[in-house]
Amino acid sequence: MQNIQNYINGNFHNPINNEWIDNYNPSNGAVYGQIPNSSKEDVEQAYQSAKSAFKQWSHTSFEERSRILIKISELLEANLQRFAEAESKDNGKPISLAKSVDIPRAASNFRFFGNAITQFASESHESVGQDAINFTLRQPIGVVGCISPWNLPLYLFTWKIAPAIAAGNCVVAKPSEVTPLTAYLLGEICNEAGLPKGVLNIVQGLGTTTGQAIVEHPDIKAISFTGGTATGAHIARTAAPMFKKLSLELGGKNPNIIFADCDYDKMLETTVRSSFANQGQICLCGSRIFVEESIYKKFKADFVQKVKQLKVGHPSDESTDIGALVSKTHLEKVELYVKIAEDEGAKILCGGLEVTVNGYENGYYFQPTIIEVQDNVCRINQEEVFGPVVTIMSFKTDKEALVLANDVKYGLSATVWTSNLNRTMQFSQKLQTGIVWVNTWMMRDLRTPFGGTKASGVGREGGFDALRFFTEPKNVCIKYE
Ligand code: NAD
Repeated sequence: MQNIQNYINGNFHNPINNEWIDNYNPSNGAVYGQIPNSSKEDVEQAYQSAKSAFKQWSHTSFEERSRILIKISELLEANLQRFAEAESKDNGKPISLAKSVDIPRAASNFRFFGNAITQFASESHESVGQDAINFTLRQPIGVVGCISPWNLPLYLFTWKIAPAIAAGNCVVAKPSEVTPLTAYLLGEICNEAGLPKGVLNIVQGLGTTTGQAIVEHPDIKAISFTGGTATGAHIARTAAPMFKKLSLELGGKNPNIIFADCDYDKMLETTVRSSFANQGQICLCGSRIFVEESIYKKFKADFVQKVKQLKVGHPSDESTDIGALVSKTHLEKVELYVKIAEDEGAKILCGGLEVTVNGYENGYYFQPTIIEVQDNVCRINQEEVFGPVVTIMSFKTDKEALVLANDVKYGLSATVWTSNLNRTMQFSQKLQTGIVWVNTWMMRDLRTPFGGTKASGVGREGGFDALRFFTEPKNVCIKYE
């Protein structure tokens, strides 16, 4: 059994109320450990620890903060195998993905913000004619809350924590209760790297108890949240009367728009990945595929053929393309959406069924699924499934493609495949999303603003945007003679 504790003030603690939640291994459906269901009292203890650490940490030089963050990054790299195995076991994702994406990216989050803080500068404005100079102080906020989801557990957890502590804040953080393990292991790494006690505190537990207690805490002044749109709306309602600073990274229903003039082979290969990487459980996956009519038939045949070759298997098998979905509840949600699509008259081109993996019969496996739809208003095209399910339909004109892409409540990312420069610019300007990829997908540069529009969120993370979020700007105006 792998039992997990809270990490508060540099030490590991059982929850004060001694309440525990079962942790499941998605690859075989078995309980393999327990995690705290932390209460308000644990969150209070974490807050007090963060508050005590803040005085010193906020005055620690940026060189020293940078040195510690980079040390954490190096230790994560040195422990790649152990962390990748833990992530794969906890989440169900293929070990190959955890090793090549999740853990390296968690390490680069610490390295990136360890470097970024040494380059972060504030503005100054000389008020010519008034004999005054204005400059902006960028001060850490104090104690901040970071709440993350289960799909890219350590990757997204550290995407928040690294800039928060780089900017001089102390943190009360909560990973998803579905994937608590790597966040727990991170505590050990932080101690080894010499992160002062209390700078980072990790409380484990359910969203409705532990997460809610973080958001409701009157002295946790900012919340950085990644998760579902409904949860984000609830957090916004809770936090608004306390005037907390909020960054909300929420759901998506991203269009993948394919024109006949694209590099077809590159597009096809990338589209398989952008549809099904991490079992389709990436907020950036292109789940609505729109294809120009002239190549629709060919694309449909080639795409189905390629997707049928993907291997659904145990996450620890290096040759697995599609691992297990994260939980039984999630598997049931995905199945339900396939049924809804069928009931609405859509055609399942491949997949659509649960998979039994030999020796792991109780695991949560599902076939990569392609559904042909006739319109964009059906539920499968309007609601986030967040699993290995994509839809395809054809379009005739650029105008039609743009309307289809934008006709959804979400606005996280979009992908466009074309070799036409004018079309590239037209779509870049008119797509209602926070991110547009042209002739690629999920290519990330950590300096760029990351986030969504419409129901996909508020605010941007990444680069100096994250450091700006985690600092309070104060203008100082000095009059001189
Ligand atoms: P979720 O909203 O259920 O949970 C996210 C986190 O919030 C978890 O840690 C959960 O415990 C916590 N939480 C739940 N209720 C809470 C409450 N009342 N107060 C405070 N915290 C609470 O989301 P999930 O199912 O873990 O993740 C999947 C969702 O995340 C999808 O919608 C996906 O699109 C989205 N996502 C978005 C991005 C992005 O960058 N925009 C990235 C990854 C995932």
